[in-house]
Amino acid sequence: MIALEKSKPEPGLWQVEAPVPEIGPEDVLIRINKTGICGTDIHIWNWDEWAQRTVPVPLITGHEFAGEIVELGRDVTGLEIGQRCSGEGHLIGRQSRQSRAGRFHLDPETRGIGVNEQGAFAEYLRLPAFNVVPLPDAVDDEIGAILDPLGNAVHTALSYDLVGEDVLITGAGPIGIMAAAVARHVGARHVVITDVNPARLELAAQVTDVVPVNVAQEDLRDVAARLKMKQGFDVGLEMSGNQAALDQMVESLVMGGRIALLGIPPGKSPVDWSRIVFKAITLKGIYGREIFETWYKMIAMLENGLDVRRVITHRFAATDFREGFEIMRSGLSGKVVLDWR
Ligand code: NAD
Ligand code: ZN
Repeated sequence: MIALEKSKPEPGLWQVEAPVPEIGPEDVLIRINKTGICGTDIHIWNWDEWAQRTVPVPLITGHEFAGEIVELGRDVTGLEIGQRCSGEGHLIGRQSRQSRAGRFHLDPETRGIGVNEQGAFAEYLRLPAFNVVPLPDAVDDEIGAILDPLGNAVHTALSYDLVGEDVLITGAGPIGIMAAAVARHVGARHVVITDVNPARLELAAQVTDVVPVNVAQEDLRDVAARLKMKQGFDVGLEMSGNQAALDQMVESLVMGGRIALLGIPPGKSPVDWSRIVFKAITLKGIYGREIFETWYKMIAMLENGLDVRRVITHRFAATDFREGFEIMRSGLSGKVVLDWR
């Protein structure tokens, strides 16, 4: 089969001919139809410090996918050949206290497909049947291929009750934009999204009904005043990994405001603790998706009118992956989807 591999410990990915994976008794074999390119894949492409520390070479990369089950392991029940599916890319252990309590997304033994284990940028993927998420007709393959990052957005946005709340999202990357769409879908009052990249803010406004703010040009306090907020935002969703954005968020929140942090800063990032203490702010770190509650809620919302399709701005054949990575690296795209058929 054709696959995209990190074949050498240097920047880039290479198209290779790889054997179709053999499955174990509890696995399924999935024929991949579409995959999404993630920020994580860009780190792996760039071969930055994190990637060098984390990713074994050689490795087939990629973890955002949709496809169809073509083979079932001997012990697999409840799934069928021909079933369209996506799946959770975090492979969890069964030993930790968290796993045994059903809080799978908090398992410290987690390993990621396309990061630590063979990934989804390939014609076929082996996946434990446990990780498979069947797709209803309402979720086609290209949306199926972005459920992983949509799940990050949903997990973050649903951390707090947003009904009637004023929500600040810092970072209009694909995940920030999808979080804005989710916040609107579940009934937030005002949703403001910030960035310093005008192309990203334009895209945000095309995907959903948000107030885009370029913080390089406009002061958030003026925006809050214009929207008639008395004290500030009730909830903050940090989706940039940028220090200045987090500082600005803490400043813009009401007393007792709540923050969910998804964005990953590049290194140690100083925090003004006293502001957080005196404003009695709640902070919650977000990792991945809740397995499988986030998947359940996200698919239910997609079936009920949540529309994030316009966040996909580019589509390429898998063999044209270089173009896809180039546009992702430019910061001028939303989600980029590769077609494997
Ligand atoms: P992205 O890099 O595409 O988007 C981040 C955006 O933040 C960019 O558009 C950038 O211009 C913007 N930004 C930079 N400085 C800013 C500032 N001062 N104010 C506002 N915006 C600013 O990333 P993405 O793929 O949308 O992911 C969002 C973040 O979530 C990233 O940091 C990513 O690493 C992280 N992430 C975390 C998890 C997790 O499990 N915690 C999972 C996936 C992604
Ligand atoms: Zn991803």
